[in-house]
Amino acid sequence: MPSEDSSLPAESWRWPETTWRGHVDAVRAGQRLVPNRWPGDARVAVALSFDSDHETIPLRDGETSPGRLAQGEYGARVGAARILNLLAHYGVPTTFFMPAVAALLHPEEARAYTQDGHELAVHGWIHERNMLLGRADERELTARALDTLTTLTGQRPVGIRTPSWDFSESTLAIMLELGFAYDSSLMADDEPYEILAGGRPTGLVEIPVDWIRDDAPYFTMDRYGSVRPYSRPRDVGEIWRDEFDAAYRDGGVFQLTLHPHVIGHRSRLVVLRELLDHITAHHDVWFATHAQLADAARGVLHGSTTARTVPSEHTP
Ligand SMILES: [Zn+2]
Repeated sequence: MPSEDSSLPAESWRWPETTWRGHVDAVRAGQRLVPNRWPGDARVAVALSFDSDHETIPLRDGETSPGRLAQGEYGARVGAARILNLLAHYGVPTTFFMPAVAALLHPEEARAYTQDGHELAVHGWIHERNMLLGRADERELTARALDTLTTLTGQRPVGIRTPSWDFSESTLAIMLELGFAYDSSLMADDEPYEILAGGRPTGLVEIPVDWIRDDAPYFTMDRYGSVRPYSRPRDVGEIWRDEFDAAYRDGGVFQLTLHPHVIGHRSRLVVLRELLDHITAHHDVWFATHAQLADAARGVLHGSTTARTVPSEHTP
């Protein structure tokens, strides 16, 4: 059946081996970076993240209607404060990835993240789609986002998550050029790893994500689209609890990506509260920002920490 997506390259079945192998090798997972024990002699690392996109997703798409923008505004007006209160209650440090335009719209919120002991990290300029940009534009927007967050908070972010996890052929080189310590946009493992470029180590730590551990695919819907995923929040909480339990057995990482405008609603935040109750009932958990997790992972890379050789030994 011919593809209906004109953006797909034609006739990939004619590619010689050097072409398809070259695409695969361009950005690849290298050494898995899981220490024998996490800091504090913890068995599992828990890295929660919130992507404070707010109004930038409709703005990115040129959807400027007050109705669409109000859905994003909810994340700033209601969701973010509720989340910060909940995290303070549990004493859990997390990472907030924030597009620069969202941070400029809500500078007090951006500063509150860092003042509360959380990490603020780069999430594009206006939640742009890197795959639609040329290299020069992608670089300029990423650099501008980095500078904007630095100016707003007085702290230079060390981490980046590409908007929508959209990773172009230029993205890795731009991250390396701008000096990021870690990325959190790729999905090649459950555990942190070093990113390879063309088979060569880059020193850049990847903290992998997945749509399974993201609230957006379970709860969001397109008013005029035919597909309307909607999940019972507690069913989703069960998936995340299973993910945590397996990470605990493996001695690995439980990473989660949430959005204030999605999880911040009353009937959904209860699931985050129940999840935190479940996780904090374990005594040997290390809650870390993504930057702290990347530092611990880098210890394995530099040989200052012994690697856990078989992280999946307990997984059936
Ligand atoms: Zn986002």
